[in-house]
Amino acid sequence: MLNKRSVEDLQVKGKRVLVRCDFNVPIQNGEITDINRIVAALPTIKKLIADGGKVILCSHLGKPKEPSPQFTLDPVAKKLSELLEKEVVFAKDDEVVGANAKAAIGSMKEGSVVLLENTRFRKEESKNIDSFSEDLASIADVYVNDAFGSSHRAHCSTVGVTKFVEISAVGYLMQKEIEYLGNAVNNPVRPFVAILGGSKVSDKINVINNLLDKVDTLIIGGGMAYTFFKALGHEVGKSLLEEDKVPYAIEMMDKAKAKGVNFLIPVDTVITTEIKNDAPFETVSIDSIKADWMGVDIGEKTRELYKDALKGAKTVVWNGPMGVFELENFAKGTFEIAKTLADLDATTIIGGGDSAAAVNILGFGDKMSHISTGGGASLEFLEGKDLPGVEAVNDK
Ligand code: AMP
Repeated sequence: MLNKRSVEDLQVKGKRVLVRCDFNVPIQNGEITDINRIVAALPTIKKLIADGGKVILCSHLGKPKEPSPQFTLDPVAKKLSELLEKEVVFAKDDEVVGANAKAAIGSMKEGSVVLLENTRFRKEESKNIDSFSEDLASIADVYVNDAFGSSHRAHCSTVGVTKFVEISAVGYLMQKEIEYLGNAVNNPVRPFVAILGGSKVSDKINVINNLLDKVDTLIIGGGMAYTFFKALGHEVGKSLLEEDKVPYAIEMMDKAKAKGVNFLIPVDTVITTEIKNDAPFETVSIDSIKADWMGVDIGEKTRELYKDALKGAKTVVWNGPMGVFELENFAKGTFEIAKTLADLDATTIIGGGDSAAAVNILGFGDKMSHISTGGGASLEFLEGKDLPGVEAVNDK
């Protein structure tokens, strides 16, 4: 159980509650194209409204170098207002906590909601410099961190502000994310299977290493598989390869053997000449990749092997697609894994980022136990690291 104070433990009636959310959503031409993160923030916001708090929301969006209309949170305020079916005042203010924001906050009533401008409009934010943390604290009696997707970063709005606000807590989303990921990693119902894919070994080095201490089976797919093929002495043509990580791949296979972990890498692969849907493609065993071709998905035998390995699993964590799932010809591996997880009688947890997108695009989103809203944060969690945004909150 998470040993942090939660929104359930707070008395917020009449108080100004600053809530750090993760509203870092994709926006195209002013339209939000994926509202999952906003929907995920609603339970905490509704609870604080119902309890009579003055709810002041903040978040970053993208990586602006300076205040810019392209990165304004204005579209989020509109969407939130729609979802909450109540007014959300957008405090347009390049200083985030400048005169405009202060005026909006000054006229708040119990149960009303204000959204501040993008916290990264302030240069101090990502450097965790006190001046902005103090500004944020000056408009808050209580601080709630519900931004799991940003909790691996020590910024003013996730960590610094807690130095200057006496009472802090985590929100429902943060609690849920940590309970699912934490239980899976530290207290899993077994058999526990982890599936790791995506493009690079280098991104997942610490995850593989940490999970080998925890899982019964570790399944490898995606672009990182080819570094393991190379480690086994096979040629990989033009497939993604991190030559300098070959010794690490060998080390991990040895570690798995020593620990008695069932470590599975593909036995066959779909290869193509180009990452295009109209390029020729075929399936070959991993020792027969043609020199000018590249591996872009797991093959049919591997799909069967992985489906078998997942039979009877009780806890599954999946991070990273099995192939270039964005193209139909190379999406079968990712699709089959998603479908297999959807049909399992197990706790199924999808790491954020591309695997979450894949599961949703392929239509299996509502069949999973939990889809994390935080890509980087969930990876750091799986690495066994403490998340600074969680650590900074008051203990129970
Ligand atoms: P990541 O951001 O590391 O989770 O990687 C996700 C990306 O890896 C997706 O855009 C996939 O298209 C890509 N990917 C997966 N498998 C391969 C592969 N075999 N070759 C190239 N890219 C891949």
